[in-house]
Amino acid sequence: PLDKDELGSKTWGFLHTMAAYYPENPSPQQKQDMTSFFDVFSRFYPCEVCAKDFQKEIKIQPPKVDSQKSLSKWLCDMHNIVNVKLSKKTFDCNRVNERWKDGWVD
Ligand code: FAD
Repeated sequence: PLDKDELGSKTWGFLHTMAAYYPENPSPQQKQDMTSFFDVFSRFYPCEVCAKDFQKEIKIQPPKVDSQKSLSKWLCDMHNIVNVKLSKKTFDCNRVNERWKDGWVD
């Protein structure tokens, strides 16, 4: 079985990559689907405390499904909320596409 940390880092990899390839101009259907995705995801994520807190966070700040940039930025903010909770370093969300889409331009 995956432990909580391995499950977490693999899941974040999937979620950030999905956001990176979300359309820049999504259709109404795609926006609705992405909102539903996070709603369902938050109810089935197989770490109970993680799922409970994530459900609360997306109620406060629902997914910003208007564009690739807004979705990636929103997800980065959500991940930073978890980073703060776990006393990890926060990530600079201006660099989220470099990390998860375009590759670092160092
Ligand atoms: P991770 O936090 O898994 O990050 C993986 C990589 O993502 C990093 O190496 C970095 O390059 C990049 N990254 C870091 N921050 C960001 C960001 N803000 N935006 C974009 N990229 C970033 N664990 C708990 O113990 N308690 C919880 O309540 C909890 N809730 C979670 C909720 C969700 C929805 C998910 C997916 C995971 C949750 N986890 C929780 C797991 C936790 O977030 C980490 O995944 C785990 O602790 C492993 O951390 P890590 O150091 O490998 O890096």
